[in-house]
Amino acid sequence: MQVSGYLKLSVAVAVATIAMKTGAWWLTGSVSLLSDALESLVNLAGASFALLMVNVAAMPADDDYPYGHHKAEYFSSGFEGGLILVAALAIIWAAVQRLITPQPLEQLGWGLALTVLSSAMNAALAWAMLRKAHAVRSMALEGDARHLITDVWTSAGVVLGLLAVAATGWLWLDPLVAMLVAANIVREGFSLMRRSVDGLMDRALEPPVQALIEKTLDGFRHPALRFDHISTRRAGARRFVDLHMHMPGGWSLARAAALRTNVEQALMSAVPGLRATIQLLPSDVETQFDDTRDHPL
Ligand SMILES: [Zn+2]
Repeated sequence: MQVSGYLKLSVAVAVATIAMKTGAWWLTGSVSLLSDALESLVNLAGASFALLMVNVAAMPADDDYPYGHHKAEYFSSGFEGGLILVAALAIIWAAVQRLITPQPLEQLGWGLALTVLSSAMNAALAWAMLRKAHAVRSMALEGDARHLITDVWTSAGVVLGLLAVAATGWLWLDPLVAMLVAANIVREGFSLMRRSVDGLMDRALEPPVQALIEKTLDGFRHPALRFDHISTRRAGARRFVDLHMHMPGGWSLARAAALRTNVEQALMSAVPGLRATIQLLPSDVETQFDDTRDHPL
């Protein structure tokens, strides 16, 4: 099965999980099961935008979008992150109400059975996805699988909490567990939104990747050669670096261009998915843009 096939399967499993967990909440009236169902909504959001990322990012650049379609995912992650935050706040509100006026849980056995069954389904899928992700080195697939595993742990915590309620009769445990799950969902919602902001604001690549770029350029260091004005950014799975390559003004254009090709190839093989834009400049000349960078128009 292809990576996009696994992602589609994971969307289908997420929909089934949400249905089963919502059923478990409806049967029992437990707010922690409701928050567990919401956690699965986070997975659905994660799986659908991983799918979007794989499909939309693969669209070639065209006349209207000459830089490609890599940024499409940021719209969905920002929107989904916002939705998830609102839903998590609603859960916290419901849990606080339940703390103030506790209610007995009903049909706990059926609710727990549905939750355990859906978690087993998720665990099996996550295991298969992780194997495939390692085989083809797909970050989108691995991220989605790790998310599923987190969800399985959350469900395990909710099940333990409800078993404790059944054993002790402490009804306040249910809203307490719900609030812990909701806090985790808030965290995930923020990280989805931050991802979207980072992308739209052209945040620099991660320090290890920047170090890798520096190290690659170091391989070309030469007294007559200088690299400066290095800036990096990311657009979805695509990574970009812009830099200047300064060299003696007497070098022929052919010699300079040949060296640039070597640098480009070294950068691309060091960092997968990297696009390098290298300006060729004489040693003593800077670009107008950089001379006037402190005086914007
Ligand atoms: Zn420069």
